[in-house]
Amino acid sequence: MEQLRYLEVLNDTAAVVAASDSVREALGRTVELVARRLGLDVCSIYLFDAEVEELVLAASHGLLPDSIGKVSMGLEEGLTGLVGKTQRPLFTSSAQEHPQFKFFPQTGEERFTSFGGIPLLRHGKLEGVLTVQTARQYEFGANEQLMLATLAGLVVSIIDVSELLARSEAPPSEERALCLTGLGTSPGIGMARAVVMGVRAENLPPPAQESLCAAEELERFEEALAESFEEADRMIASLREAGAGGEAVEILQAHRTLLGDPHFVDTVRQLISQEQQGASAAVINAISPTIEAFSKIEVLQEKSHDLIDIRTQLLAHLGLSVESEIIGDEPVVVMAQTLTPAQTATLDPDTVVAVVTEHGSETSHMSILARSRGIPAVVGVAGLLEKIRRGDTLLVDGHNGFVFVNPDERTCTGYFERKEQEEAAHQAIVKNVERYDAGGGVTPHQVEINLGFSGEVQQAIDSGAQSVGLLRTEFFYMQRSAWPTVSEQTAYYKRIFAAFEGGAVTVRLVDIGGDKKLPFMEELDEPNPILGLRSVRWLLEHPDIYRTQLSAVIGAADVSPGTTVRIMVPMVTSLWEMRAAREIYTEVRKQSGSSRQLPFGMMVEVPAVLYQLEDYLPVADFFSIGSNDLVQYMMAVDRNNERVRDRYVPHHPAVLHALYGVVTQLRRHWRVPSVCGEMASMPATALALMALGFERFSVLPRNYPLIRYLSQSVVAENLDVLRQELLAQDNADAVAWLLREKLREHADLLARI
Ligand code: PEP
Ligand code: MG
Repeated sequence: MEQLRYLEVLNDTAAVVAASDSVREALGRTVELVARRLGLDVCSIYLFDAEVEELVLAASHGLLPDSIGKVSMGLEEGLTGLVGKTQRPLFTSSAQEHPQFKFFPQTGEERFTSFGGIPLLRHGKLEGVLTVQTARQYEFGANEQLMLATLAGLVVSIIDVSELLARSEAPPSEERALCLTGLGTSPGIGMARAVVMGVRAENLPPPAQESLCAAEELERFEEALAESFEEADRMIASLREAGAGGEAVEILQAHRTLLGDPHFVDTVRQLISQEQQGASAAVINAISPTIEAFSKIEVLQEKSHDLIDIRTQLLAHLGLSVESEIIGDEPVVVMAQTLTPAQTATLDPDTVVAVVTEHGSETSHMSILARSRGIPAVVGVAGLLEKIRRGDTLLVDGHNGFVFVNPDERTCTGYFERKEQEEAAHQAIVKNVERYDAGGGVTPHQVEINLGFSGEVQQAIDSGAQSVGLLRTEFFYMQRSAWPTVSEQTAYYKRIFAAFEGGAVTVRLVDIGGDKKLPFMEELDEPNPILGLRSVRWLLEHPDIYRTQLSAVIGAADVSPGTTVRIMVPMVTSLWEMRAAREIYTEVRKQSGSSRQLPFGMMVEVPAVLYQLEDYLPVADFFSIGSNDLVQYMMAVDRNNERVRDRYVPHHPAVLHALYGVVTQLRRHWRVPSVCGEMASMPATALALMALGFERFSVLPRNYPLIRYLSQSVVAENLDVLRQELLAQDNADAVAWLLREKLREHADLLARI
């Protein structure tokens, strides 16, 4: 088996879902595809019938066709039964010598020597078993076993989606919808017209309207306009020089005329001076309604493209390289090669019902932000922008990682039902937590939330959260066109502190660099930005920026006495960094005349810190584990790179041992660390953290009720046993299996969503 062929299989398998009318047909096509492409003699899928506790052969390539639907086995029977019973993969090169081997003559399987079986698990429950067999003696390599396990995950999705489609009352349509597959990184279902968002990393949202200076914005616009004219003139001249055809020159001249259109220019000026809009926002607002209107009239569509070009050109000169289509009030699915955190920050969940990208992974900031804002997302869809045309309708399944292009009625009906079920399951958990709180219950774990945008504050408060364990302040900066002044920053912090009066807000110092770039920041030409001048490293080299942020936080904290305000330093690697950061804080506080001492703590997200935790005790008032980066650096896997996404494993035994080390060491000194990476938000890994002894969590707003529900459902003694079991595992699959099983046992509602 070759890796390349395997990857193709993954992509093609998704297509069979859309092309099948029934679960059986989808499974039949799947096994055939897998067997043919991977050169296997047999590939079969057995489905588990929970009522009679039997595995029934549902599809096979290689076994006798007559046996399909007829051959079944209990969980005590044969190797397939053993895989179902233990819910663990089993591979053997001489199946018949295995003590559990049982011969099923109806299938004609005596010809086969080697066997591989992988359990098909959905939400921790047995759905069936995928088996592969070869006639010759064959040793399945570790790499192949991993591939087949990933494939099994896809088969579970195929079963899930085919069942959902089969339940739909609408008949299948004649014309089959295209179905693409990627990695679902933000659960949920969204359907709308597709729009393309630009691929330039420096794309930015329009600057926030408040606190802009109209005169400055007007000046910026006039400069951008002049530069755009100059650019057009330059291009026309160089085309003429190169002897290019008259048509290109004509187009550019037409652009130039449109740029100078007095109605357009006056509208922009008015929006800036009378409505206090920023220059970029004014350009967008002046031109976009016309683009929208023209794009709907066939004879004017060409013209609308010209207007898009002009808007792009002007915005680029305003430092805003938006190559995207403008998103109006209509719901849309945003697709892109990749979305930067800044671009994701601009997405309004009221109109953007899903995002689909060619690149990305589970813990890339785009995925985190999409989850946080409740926008379903599928990443890593190969060739997306070639396969989908603007204006196609996309149905995005953020659970299974499927994207249906122009779906038929059957698909839509099936998915709408699923969407309602999902919302009902979420609501059941919310109600459960509310009942618990109303009954005076106190959860043993403290749960706070992660915030990125002021827009998320209301959602967080509605979910019942009282404190912020991680305020990603860089997202505030990303929404600006220049470094905000102290007073602009102070106003922002005051708003957030006021919203959490009575609780706490942990302000993480601006964490830029790596994949988080600011539009107005000098471009750092680094070969490996994830290991480069990021976070506190960058801040200490830019003390003016650091001091400005500190002044704003201190100033806002001074007028918010009812809120506990903490300052948190990201990416600390060496003790001197923490000392230096703290010294500057002390200086700025003294200069400000503030008498309020804010707790000054650090993130634990670089492995070096794990070995010096005790040295940090005098300089860090608190510790919060940034598991997203910690896993990235421990495992040497770029968290944004989808090619190695299966190697980014937060539940890896090495990570669990490291985290256990942190919590036990700090507890000896009466310190209670928090976890603010995604591990804390995901029920299975949150359960692992609880078992390891963590008591404080900071999570995505939408997951706040889920983690509180988990906390109220677990029992201390069970966690002790689970800790011992977890620490005894030597591989991540075994850990995952254990966590799924325990989650089902202790918090069944969570295992179902
Ligand atoms: C982390 O690394 O776990 C973290 C919380 O910070 P970010 O995801 O913003 O890097
Ligand atoms: Mg981090």
